[in-house]
Amino acid sequence: EQSESNLSVTVVGASGDLAKKKIFPALFALFYEDCLPQNFTIFGYARTKMTDEELREMISGTLTCRIDKRENCGDKMEKFLERCFYQSGQYNSEEHFAELDLKLKQKEGGKVSNRLFYLSIPPDIFVDVARCASGRASSKNGWTRVIVEKPFGRDSESSGELTRSLKKYLAEDQIFRIDHYLGKELVENLSVLRFSNLVFEPLWSRNYIRNVQFIFSEDFGTEGRGGYFDNYGIIRDIMQNHLLQILALFAMETPVTLDAEDVRNEKVKVLRSMRRLKLEDVIVGQYKGHSKGAKTYAGYTDDPTVPNDSLTPTFAAAALFIDNARWDGVPFLMKAGKALNTRRAEIRVQFRHVPGNLYKRNFGMDLDKATNELVLRVQPDEAIYLKINNKIPGLGMRFDRSDLNLLYSARYPKEIPDAYERLLLDAIEGERRLFIRSDELDAAWAIFTPLLKELEAKKISPELYPYGSRGPVGAHYLAAKYDVRWGDLAGDD
Ligand code: NAP
Repeated sequence: EQSESNLSVTVVGASGDLAKKKIFPALFALFYEDCLPQNFTIFGYARTKMTDEELREMISGTLTCRIDKRENCGDKMEKFLERCFYQSGQYNSEEHFAELDLKLKQKEGGKVSNRLFYLSIPPDIFVDVARCASGRASSKNGWTRVIVEKPFGRDSESSGELTRSLKKYLAEDQIFRIDHYLGKELVENLSVLRFSNLVFEPLWSRNYIRNVQFIFSEDFGTEGRGGYFDNYGIIRDIMQNHLLQILALFAMETPVTLDAEDVRNEKVKVLRSMRRLKLEDVIVGQYKGHSKGAKTYAGYTDDPTVPNDSLTPTFAAAALFIDNARWDGVPFLMKAGKALNTRRAEIRVQFRHVPGNLYKRNFGMDLDKATNELVLRVQPDEAIYLKINNKIPGLGMRFDRSDLNLLYSARYPKEIPDAYERLLLDAIEGERRLFIRSDELDAAWAIFTPLLKELEAKKISPELYPYGSRGPVGAHYLAAKYDVRWGDLAGDD
């Protein structure tokens, strides 16, 4: 059947950054891993005038082969590039999409055609493209799917409006909302770890878990590209989507099966059981300029694309709660920031103290320092490690916190596929598990919208922190309020 049907992928906004850096390279990786059907065609679409040759030239610079697949790499690139074409057009022109349709038909040669559109464009033109693509360039005899990427609105109302507008032209099962964190290897592994190892799932509740932390940090600022960011801020850019999605996967009940609808049903239940986030459970920060030796780092408002009086948070920490039987009272802490001292994304699970700990009674073990902690490092240097207490070998009784450590690069030297590869492949195969359903999106916005509005209405000033620092001290006090210490600041990993 595969050899009979034809797949075309149209990258709308092909002249842009995301297309060049992520989408074309991911499509190429799928091609050389033999994951694309025999008959496939790739089109770039944007307003910029370009020939097919110029598009090929542009993307050839960013295609790479994985280390273990370097053989015939050049050959495969040539073959791939031969299947790439370009169509220039406006985003709101049905005529231009009709021209694209004609070209697609030529390539499809009358076979059953499945069409995937990747909207790699600013969100204000999503709906135009959905209208034109679905009206004039959708498949007549196969499926038509559209991938969209955040931002999905900026609050409950605008997100709902976007969903309603898209649904005028597309059915829910044609819309694939990407959250690329869900395509990351360690996030995929979260459920495997929990549901296929006896030693984790029984501990996965308020009975044994003291708190859970979701941490995202970047060691760079907006660096002259703050225009988009300033309209959203870190809470919308990272917390409401990426961190919250991981939280929902982490905390969900066991799904009936691994089918998309079963998994997404469980995630929605978690999101709908969560308390609306309150102002007193959030702290916001913004980085300021900082000099280190001879080097100076510009503050957020020094970015020429950011207004001088911007109150947009580049850092936030929040304490969230899930009011259900499994998680009642357990703080789920989130922390996300730009221009910090490190770059990482991780999940930290801190377990309770061992009740009646013998070693505290007899040897003064410090229970706070001795709690077990499970860490899933999503990026960089993917790893899973569990902090345990251990006796230091010798005649005395001294303790050490050490790690049971699974470092991916040591255990799995093969390169890990980029998140976009998995997500594109899933969209092609119609696997929806890792995409966000509209009711999930609504539930996610419901948690954050009142807070975002209050921050803006009250013009809450962010706490300033120096570029390259550990972020505002407010995050420390917020955690302390719930008897939590940030695991990444404990200084022992
Ligand atoms: P981009 O480079 O700014 O835009 C992609 C293309 O859209 C441009 O090359 C441009 O092509 C077209 N475009 C149409 N109207 C535009 C306008 N008013 N301003 C600028 N460009 C316009 O964006 P991107 O970084 O590739 O990202 C694409 C989408 O993914 C965006 O919606 C972004 O929010 C989202 N996203 C990006 C990233 C990332 O890492 N870059 C991460 C997550 C999400 P023509 O002028 O040729 O038509």
